[in-house]
Order: sequence, then C-alpha cells, then structure tokens
Amino acid sequence: MSKKVIMIMVDGFGIPEKGWFNSIYSDFCDRRFVNLLADFSIPVSAKLGVEGIPQSATGQTALFTGFNAAKIMGMHMQGFPGPKLREVICRRNLFSNLMEKGKKVAFANAYVQYTLEELASMRLKSVTTTMVESSIGWVRNMEDLLSGKAVYHDLTRKTIKGNLSVQEISPKQAAIDLLNISKEHDFTLFEYFLTDRAGHKMDANALKEILGNLSAFVCELVDSAAENTLIILTGDHGNCEDISTRKHTNNPVPLFVYGYPLPRDRKITSIEEIYYFIIEDIFKIPKISTGVFNG
Ligand SMILES: [Zn+2]
Repeated sequence: MSKKVIMIMVDGFGIPEKGWFNSIYSDFCDRRFVNLLADFSIPVSAKLGVEGIPQSATGQTALFTGFNAAKIMGMHMQGFPGPKLREVICRRNLFSNLMEKGKKVAFANAYVQYTLEELASMRLKSVTTTMVESSIGWVRNMEDLLSGKAVYHDLTRKTIKGNLSVQEISPKQAAIDLLNISKEHDFTLFEYFLTDRAGHKMDANALKEILGNLSAFVCELVDSAAENTLIILTGDHGNCEDISTRKHTNNPVPLFVYGYPLPRDRKITSIEEIYYFIIEDIFKIPKISTGVFNG
C-alpha cells in the first residue's frame, strides 16, 4: 500500500508560552487533541532569521516552497503574496515538486465564491491559490463540496449554510471527507485560517468554536486514518494561542506528525525545513535543488 500524506496548515497557530496544558488549547479543545499535540509535535521557529513578527505570505511561502521567503524579501510580508513571492511559489512548491515525480496531489479546500480564473484576474491570490494555479490548475468547487469531494474552510459549512442546498456538517464528517479525498492522492493539503482571523480579533468566543471544531476534526483524522496514512499539522506563525494581543506572535509553531517518526534531535528548527522533510524524508525524493532562490 502506498503512503498517503495529509497536511493541515493552520494559520496563526503557535505553541503557547506556558505549554500546551496551560493554554487556550487546553481550555477550548478536546483533551485528546492537546495530548496529541504534546506527544506528537516538535516546536519549529517561524521567525525565518528576519527581524519583526512573522507573517503569512512569507511564512506560507517558506512552508510550501522550502525557500526562506522572508530572507528573499528582506522582511516578513503579510496577507497575499505580491509578484516576487508569487514568482518564488511558481518556481517550486510541494505540489509541483511531487507532481514532477508522478505523485497525485490534491488541494482539498472548496472554492465556492469565485473560480480560479476570477481570482487570478482579481489578483486576490493567497499562497495556496497561487500554488494550485501554477501546478494542479483547477480547484474544488461547490459541486465537489456537496458530493464530499472537498472540505470547506470552516470545516462545518456553517458560514455558507442555506446557500443552494448546503447543510451544516460535523467536523468529524469533514475529517471523513478529507480522508476519502486522501485515499485517491499521495499528498492532500487542507488550509484552516479561521484561527488567525479570530486571533486578530482577540475573540475568545469565536476561538472556542473554531478550536473546538479543529480539535474534533484532527482527532477524527487520527482515529479513522488508515495505516498507510500519515497526518502532518503545522502553522505559518503564532497568533491564536495568545489573545492578549491582536498581532501575530513570535512563538514557535508545532510540527505535528502522526503515523511517521517525528524529526527529533533538532533536525528541523525553521519552518522552511518542513518542505524538505516532506519531499526528502517522507516521499524519499532525492534532493533536487537547494534552499537558495536565485532571482
Ligand atoms: Zn494574520
């Protein structure tokens, strides 16, 4: 049986300063989720060796390309990637690198509002949208979502309930849908960003629901994953673990790996190294290029 890899990128998901067991996660999440994070994750720095607070555009580019995007830009960049970062993403990313080696990849998130073409013309492209556009070339839509072949970014579809025939589902069902998608692919990515949004708003009530859903989702993934399936969860930078500030944090993010040995002994210390862990360690693809981006 070939290996199936699921990667969950949680935006604004750092390790609390006082540890997992004395944190917003232990307050709001299923206890098992907190135990899983404590047992199966290592801390990884999101600072990228650059001054200032880590941000999404550079952090996600680093995670998904293996290039230190903040060093390339000379600073952390927030929001959507500009032309230079899009060039970095298009040069090489997890999807394109795996596809070159004949692997089947999927971006599980559903795009229900705009098509990929519309997003391209609006220049409103997130790191993952840019990555999908330059590799897979299509995104999952409402039809896919309704047939269980996509996962909505809020997991439960609550925010689009009532549109067409959309009904709310449980986070557990979202996990089962993601597992089904992953069975047909070697690598499946899902992005969850409500954590970052609620962190910016310092909204504890929203986070209670958002983290509760995330924890139920991840527990179900772990419980129902087949033996050949491994689950990776990481973040682009900290935020929601500290709601005393609207800003991101300098805290490390977890690299959670379930179903495969954790890279211990400080083998991975910075988020861009997660790319090489996936490509080289997990998929056993020999090193084809370096972490240096040449203009
Ligand atoms: Zn943010």
